[in-house]
Amino acid sequence: MLFRVVALLSFITFILPVQQILAADQEIVVYSARKEHLIKPLFDLYTQKTGVKIKYTTGKAGVLLERLKAEGKNSPADVFITVDAGNLWQATQAGVLQPVTSPILESNVPANLRDPQNHWFGLSVRARTIVYNTAAGVENKLSSYENLADPNWKGRLVLRTSKKVYNQSLVASLIAEHGEQKSESIVAGWVQNLAVAPFSNDTKALEAVAAGIGDATVVNTYYFGRLMKKKPDLPLAIFWPNQKSSGVHMNVSGAGITTHAKNRDGAQQLLEWLSSEEAQAQFAGLNMEYPVNAKVSADPQVQKWGTFTGNPMNVAKYGELQADAIKMMDRVGYK
Ligand code: FE
Repeated sequence: MLFRVVALLSFITFILPVQQILAADQEIVVYSARKEHLIKPLFDLYTQKTGVKIKYTTGKAGVLLERLKAEGKNSPADVFITVDAGNLWQATQAGVLQPVTSPILESNVPANLRDPQNHWFGLSVRARTIVYNTAAGVENKLSSYENLADPNWKGRLVLRTSKKVYNQSLVASLIAEHGEQKSESIVAGWVQNLAVAPFSNDTKALEAVAAGIGDATVVNTYYFGRLMKKKPDLPLAIFWPNQKSSGVHMNVSGAGITTHAKNRDGAQQLLEWLSSEEAQAQFAGLNMEYPVNAKVSADPQVQKWGTFTGNPMNVAKYGELQADAIKMMDRVGYK
């Protein structure tokens, strides 16, 4: 009897750690600057399909990046999800992401929406476009981001702060397109045309335009979608700028595998799945964004906003020119 108990105990002590190791091996740890309600449904589906558990922490992009840097090789994170190519580029510069060779990701994610060195891949596309007040009679005046610098917009333009990476990326794209000098005069023109000091977020900028404080602003379409869902009667509409030139400014939310990932293979499989036809409609649709995977159509609500030509520039450019954009916005007094 005693022998049996000892045998059973040694069996348990032998077997348990192996099971724990297997479970820990399967788990994927994600740091996400994309909000919980936008990722949890997908992670739940992935776990349901594969049995692989996903542990995630959400937070602000900058805070999570600092955490990854501070943790170094002790970081539990396998995957870093963040928004804006400018932030993804920062993460690459900080050395917290590793390159991934994946024919699946390369075929699902268009080349202009991922890092040329494959440290990160776009997973949803956001369009930063013009929204105007439909009662202001300005539709015929609208054409391009550049044209918002024209003096006939004096006192009628509303903008979000230059401190937000979204506008840093937009201005970086202007620098890539026109060079430093011309883009500086465009951004200086915007500042001269402001109706009111820049707002802290896109929604406040939209509300100011709806209230008639200004006639037009530049925002990501999903903020327009969210606001119109809550208040469908607001006198706001989307205008797709630069259709005869560079195209609408495009950006991504995206992800990469961390440099010190403990579950590198699991991380890669998760990213590949997130770029798949199965996951893309939901990944983009939950935030009223556009799928990166060309085989997947946008949410019906998003499709109602119409079709447009996007700027085909590689979004990694926004990171490369971010510091120049920040200095320039500072020079022209864009707060
Ligand atoms: Fe956003």
